[in-house]
Amino acid sequence: MAAQILAGKEIAEKIKQIVKKDLEQLKTRGIVPKLVAVQVGENPSSLVYLGAQKKSCAAIGIEHEVKNLDGNVSESDLIQFIKNLNEDRTVTGIILQMPLPPSMDVRKVQSTISPEKDVEGVNPANLGWIVYGRPVLAPCTALAVKELIDSTGVNLYGKEVVMVGHSDIVGKPVALLLVDKFATVSICHIGTSDSGMLETHVSRAEILVVAVGKAHLIKGSWVKKDAIVVDVGINKLGDKIVGDVEFEVAKENASWITPVPGGVGPVTTAILLRNTVLAAKMQFLN
Ligand code: NDP
Repeated sequence: MAAQILAGKEIAEKIKQIVKKDLEQLKTRGIVPKLVAVQVGENPSSLVYLGAQKKSCAAIGIEHEVKNLDGNVSESDLIQFIKNLNEDRTVTGIILQMPLPPSMDVRKVQSTISPEKDVEGVNPANLGWIVYGRPVLAPCTALAVKELIDSTGVNLYGKEVVMVGHSDIVGKPVALLLVDKFATVSICHIGTSDSGMLETHVSRAEILVVAVGKAHLIKGSWVKKDAIVVDVGINKLGDKIVGDVEFEVAKENASWITPVPGGVGPVTTAILLRNTVLAAKMQFLN
């Protein structure tokens, strides 16, 4: 039997309903969250993300502003700009749009975002809370993956999880969030592929999460019978957007699978709104 579809849009809608209620409560206390996205230079792909942010914030009643800085801005001026936003009490959330100019130390700049305003969870303090098993403002996509897995009702205890990809904002935090629920988590990366072991690992996953950015890297035939598959990847293949997993074949083996598009993406956006409201609460209600 073909897999059930993990419909990101429905899960996102449920999250947004809760966020709306929280937002209304904040507004009765005169608190209106405001998200500021800092963009350095011009980047067409970032424009799409910014547009989506603006639209989803407007739909729910969160203020959103884009601050465009010149592509030649120095790292120290960018850091000072972020510090000023940290000090500004009308700004409750800060997003630093990627990519930054290659000359900049991304981690250094990210670490200057106040942890309480860091709605994307990129500050080392927020990543550190995940290590402690107490995620607060964790990276939105990692939390989205966890929501999608939880929505299947699976008990993670003792489950074989394989995470393909080890980025700071997806692979590593996902692995930590799941290990914390006592799943047995393996993390695969380029070294796994290069050693020819990717299929071996993937094919024993009861829960498979893939965040690489390579169209159809994971062959559908590798997917274990009844596995839960969460595909984070977004790739252009011809005129289509596809994931990292060969969906049409994988869905014949899996019990649950996320579509691309329409799986992880909408949930990530909903979590960004949730983090933004949480950040405002932390600043004004604690
Ligand atoms: P990164 O490029 O930061 O990380 C990719 C990871 O994949 C790295 O750990 C890399 O390992 C690993 N990798 C590369 N090639 C291989 C390979 N052949 N076999 C195994 N592992 C490999 O990407 P992100 O984590 O930021 O994003 C991953 C994908 O998810 C992208 O397509 C992105 O667009 C998408 N995405 C989607 C979101 C959504 O909301 N739907 C949000 C965020 C991302 P190494 O470093 O060792 O090379």
